[in-house]
Amino acid sequence: DVLIKVKDLHKVYHNRLHALDGVSEEILKGEVVVIVGPSGSGKSTFLRSLNLLEVPTTGQVYFEGVDITSKETDIDRHRQKMGMVFQHFNLFPHKTILQNITLAPIKLLKKSKEEAEARAMELLKLVGLEEKANAYPSQLSGGQKQRIAIIRSLAMDPDVMLFDEPTSALDPEMVGEVLELMKKLANDGMTMVVVTHEMGFAKEVATRVIFMDEGKIKEQGAPKEFFENP
Ligand code: ADP
Ligand code: ADP
Repeated sequence: DVLIKVKDLHKVYHNRLHALDGVSEEILKGEVVVIVGPSGSGKSTFLRSLNLLEVPTTGQVYFEGVDITSKETDIDRHRQKMGMVFQHFNLFPHKTILQNITLAPIKLLKKSKEEAEARAMELLKLVGLEEKANAYPSQLSGGQKQRIAIIRSLAMDPDVMLFDEPTSALDPEMVGEVLELMKKLANDGMTMVVVTHEMGFAKEVATRVIFMDEGKIKEQGAPKEFFENP
């Protein structure tokens, strides 16, 4: 089953830089796609195009069969089904962890406070941070904040999770706990698209690795073939 399909994406910035230069791709349900490539090769632009955080200059993005680049489409409704995790956690500093997690489910999914909090506590247990429910983000370590950012996305019941260098801003000793959580999600069947420099994660967890360079997909394959080719 195709979950996301992009067709001939181009992104040209004002400075005439061709950040995406004709990218076509399909992401299937249940795939864990890891995107690798040198800095500036368009990985982040490609990832952000999938939920139209970055609007492509030309080309189409289909999500669950719907052309979300079409002006007629209500993008917000579809975007809710695409969780996104950034390098920096983007938690609301003046809200508690529980409030951070329940905000969108209450506002956008119209869940009751009780229902949203029950689900939030379940997710907090999943990552072993239930005792942080009433803490503020500043009281958490980087690795804890990133795990909260991930479960905050999960609280929206997304159909796909997009990760943009989720461990790049972390102290090295905190990288492992975030990768472990991502691995758990992958094992549970979550569809994931991940931009990362963590080659261990790519080798171990990816179902497919995409190599980008100069705004193009230059190579791709199962990690085994991908990493064995010279
Ligand atoms: P990567 O994620 O592989 O490092 P990016 O997608 O972030 O690459 O960037 C691709 C190219 O587009 C880079 O040369 C980058 O400097 C440029 N770029 C990214 N965002 C912008 C922007 N908002 N305006 C102009 N150029 C940009
Ligand atoms: P990433 O770490 O995701 O590759 P960058 O550090 O390259 O991101 O860029 C951070 C922000 O600056 C992004 O919003 C990106 O779109 C923007 N940006 C990147 N390169 C340029 C550029 N050459 N001109 C203007 N904006 C840029």
